[in-house]
Amino acid sequence: MSDATTTTITEEQRAELRRHGILLTSLQELYNWGRSNSVWPLQFGLACCAIEMIAASMARFDIARFGSEVFRPSPRQADLLIVSGTVTKKMAPQVVRLWNQMPEPKYCIAMGACAISGGPFKQGYNVLKGIDRYIPVDVYVPGCPPRPEALLHGLMKLQEKIRAQPLAGPDAPRHLRADDPCVYPVPECGATDLEPPFNPEVWKPPTLVRDDA
Ligand code: SF4
Repeated sequence: MSDATTTTITEEQRAELRRHGILLTSLQELYNWGRSNSVWPLQFGLACCAIEMIAASMARFDIARFGSEVFRPSPRQADLLIVSGTVTKKMAPQVVRLWNQMPEPKYCIAMGACAISGGPFKQGYNVLKGIDRYIPVDVYVPGCPPRPEALLHGLMKLQEKIRAQPLAGPDAPRHLRADDPCVYPVPECGATDLEPPFNPEVWKPPTLVRDDA
């Protein structure tokens, strides 16, 4: 029995075929193209960054160009959690709960310094130092606040990530792996801090190396 052979077509060959009116694609590319152009964000905001997110959805910046204008009022209908603003420790459990209520496949953009690291309130006793301590973040959009163009750039990066996702094999994304949880532990307000302080499945504390020399 002879081995099965596969032929990979290069981008140059594709471009040449396109010039002759022949379009080639695969089921995976078609599927990912459709998903990447219909990412629906959850309609919620936490602080000043949310104003820039709202601006991105208006006519001047027009997030509809990327298929993401359908901001959903329910997490059950949303694909994308844009964490836009300061995540207080009181609000963090609600954000994780919203994430859990979103069906897979779902994605998260941490928008702004506060959502990424606590931002200007990092040293505050009541502010979470990054939402990635509890849920997986796909794209980080830095700034205080990031401009709407930066959010759109983050959305384009997310689209690239979705288009590159294989539908099978060891590199398949979370939503295609049966053993991967799509529900994450919701932290609770403890005596002095959130319990647990982070989810070890998604965040590892950085290792500090002390230089005593
Ligand atoms: S990053 Fe800056 S603009 Fe955004 S929520 Fe924090 S303080 Fe406000």
